[in-house]
Amino acid sequence: MASIAIIGAGAAGCFCAVQLSRHLGKSSRICVFETQKRPMAKLAITGGGRCNITNSFREINDIRTAYPRGSRLLKSAFAAFSPQQCRQWWEENGVELVEQDDCCIFPKSQNAMEVVDCLLQGMKRGGVQLFCGAKVLSIKADSDSGYLLETAGKTPAAEHFDYVVVTTGGGAIGLLKELELPIQKPVPSLFTLRIEGLGHLMGNILDNASLSLEGSKFRSQGILLFTDWGISGPACLKLSSYAARYLNENSYKATIQLNYLSRSEEELRAFVNKARCSHKQTGSLHPEGLSDKVWRHILGRCSINEQQPWAELGNKSCNRLINTLLCDSYPISGRAAFKSEFVTAGGVECSAVKAGTLEAKNLPRLYFAGEVLDIDGITGGFNLQAAWSTAFVVAQSICSAEKNT
Ligand SMILES: Cc1cc2nc3c(=O)[nH]c(=O)nc-3n(C[C@H](O)[C@H](O)[C@H](O)COP(=O)(O)OP(=O)(O)OC[C@H]3O[C@@H](n4cnc5c(N)ncnc54)[C@H](O)[C@@H]3O)c2cc1C
Repeated sequence: MASIAIIGAGAAGCFCAVQLSRHLGKSSRICVFETQKRPMAKLAITGGGRCNITNSFREINDIRTAYPRGSRLLKSAFAAFSPQQCRQWWEENGVELVEQDDCCIFPKSQNAMEVVDCLLQGMKRGGVQLFCGAKVLSIKADSDSGYLLETAGKTPAAEHFDYVVVTTGGGAIGLLKELELPIQKPVPSLFTLRIEGLGHLMGNILDNASLSLEGSKFRSQGILLFTDWGISGPACLKLSSYAARYLNENSYKATIQLNYLSRSEEELRAFVNKARCSHKQTGSLHPEGLSDKVWRHILGRCSINEQQPWAELGNKSCNRLINTLLCDSYPISGRAAFKSEFVTAGGVECSAVKAGTLEAKNLPRLYFAGEVLDIDGITGGFNLQAAWSTAFVVAQSICSAEKNT
């Protein structure tokens, strides 16, 4: 009878446990250890309590744009368990899904607890043993084969398992130190940016802004939200994800360049030329896609009086205005934690595991799934999809290893 320990009852750990129990049945002992008092505490609050369970990937042509880190490993995980198969899995397991216009997929109930309960029921039916309040303190290779796990508050303190699956999520890498695995330093990803002096624009939205970091290759496009501390919204979160490591190395100090409308110089010049033929004041005629408040802010940035008639605006002012619309610069003074979605970049390096099985290259029967790997995505259901697919691969690998013994 094979014994399998899964460390961490999060999305990846519980999904892996369900899959293992279905395929191995009662011929194995599957134990899930969780530090916290209850399993899947984070999953329960994903997507603001609605759980953005996956994404249709309709708008993703290149997987690297969704996963700044780990896309290569994920490609092979998706070959085993694609987002499409994942949707089918949830539907077949009683969680009806709906796709939003923005390609994000949620349970039809809009309730993350439905996802949590589905996994809990699956584990219960499969006879999975769940130990909560049981922090795993160490993993040591056993002399024979398999591993000895030391768990807080559990007797006997050290227990043998034939297979160990590490699904401890982002940042929880202390446990892995003794195993001498290559680890990328965990740094935050998906955060909002602090920019002084934008508080008066709080609540205003740009529907299609482009952002870049001066002197770097990092750029993003999408909806941008002004907040009381700076900027947020998909364009900002995406940029923070692409530049997670770069920003960390630079202590979250950089200059952000903002193209307010993602329009070309020609398009903006055409608007300005037309406006100059009108009898309106600059403050009362602006390009589509900007609120009056943001427009007045932009005029202020170019020292243009909002009462000045368009017809009297000189070439120099027009050029200044066009340049500002195309590329306005703001110093970032830090990052602010985003309350509803947050992941960690970094973790066990993808090169440390075998792509087809997610087994550690130098430690047989030790597997990794979910955010503990150096894999992370932008917002939109991509992070949970990575957890489902990698957990599926691990379960499949252990099942086939068992069949061959
Ligand atoms: C507020 C918030 C909202 C989010 N919303 C979404 C969303 O809508 N869609 C999306 O795709 N992604 C979302 N994410 C990201 C997503 O939740 C994570 O990527 C995903 O949960 C990762 O799953 P995981 O199983 O790898 O790790 P986790 O879910 O973090 O689970 C790891 C578990 O391991 C336990 N653990 C750690 N160390 C030990 C130890 N030594 N012993 C025992 N147990 C241990 C932890 O307590 C934890 O329960 C959100 C994240 C946050 C914070």
